[in-house]
Amino acid sequence: MSQLANQIAVVTGAGRGIGRAIALKFAAEGADVVCISRTQENSDKVAVEVRALGRRAWALAVDVSDSLSVTAAAEKILAEAGRVDILVNNAGITRDGLLMRMSDADWDTVMDTNLKGAFLVTKAFTRAFLKQRSGRIINISSVIGLIGNPGQCNYAASKAGLIGFTQSVARELASRGVTANAIAPGFIETDMTAELKEELRAALLKQIPLGCLGKAEDIAGAALYLASPAARYVTGQVLTVDGGMVM
Ligand code: NAD
Repeated sequence: MSQLANQIAVVTGAGRGIGRAIALKFAAEGADVVCISRTQENSDKVAVEVRALGRRAWALAVDVSDSLSVTAAAEKILAEAGRVDILVNNAGITRDGLLMRMSDADWDTVMDTNLKGAFLVTKAFTRAFLKQRSGRIINISSVIGLIGNPGQCNYAASKAGLIGFTQSVARELASRGVTANAIAPGFIETDMTAELKEELRAALLKQIPLGCLGKAEDIAGAALYLASPAARYVTGQVLTVDGGMVM
């Protein structure tokens, strides 16, 4: 039986990579999906793939760090879809650089997208979750938020912040039947990691007990679990999906 039959899921950063894999996995399990990414073109492409799986899809171009466009999008979604059952805060970026050389702009852009973006989108749907007395919030953090990484102090801070955010939201909304959990992916084959230099990739593989990078579908599987009835009693947790890299 479909695990998410007739549920409405909102996925940010759905245009490609992990977000796209989550959107398609949810649709394959019976959910209608609101695909949000920065460009209409990328949102449209994924929406077409969702519809090909027999589900309804909405495609929106929204910058998650822009409070006004997030609020407008949430109002439109709630008016058209009527409810939201699952929210996946997946949109994220990197602007790497050593601490000594990192510009204020690179710090701010990463925090605004990865952390403030999740705050704005979650806030925009919280009233609906509370009214429904149900909801699943899934935030895509990173193992870098657990252990840090040279050259990624902005990204690590944003992803560690997302874990604290998740736990606070889990505590705030639990009494109304809403859960909030985070997934901490390790190194996953997507456009974000495609630029890794060969030596760095080889060094990384040595640190991964399962001996390979993950696939976007591995994260989609974890997201499906957290959205499914099987995770009814799970909240405030960080599910690490990293081939055993951090243990
Ligand atoms: P990606 O770059 O392929 O996709 C990111 C998506 O987010 C894109 O669709 C992009 O348009 C969207 N996005 C970025 N900024 C946005 C904004 N301001 N508003 C709306 N959408 C925006 O990356 P990915 O590898 O698929 O990563 C997805 C998430 O998983 C990110 O949060 C990333 O930090 C996290 N993550 C990835 C890895 C990895 O190894 N790939 C590891 C750990 C965590």
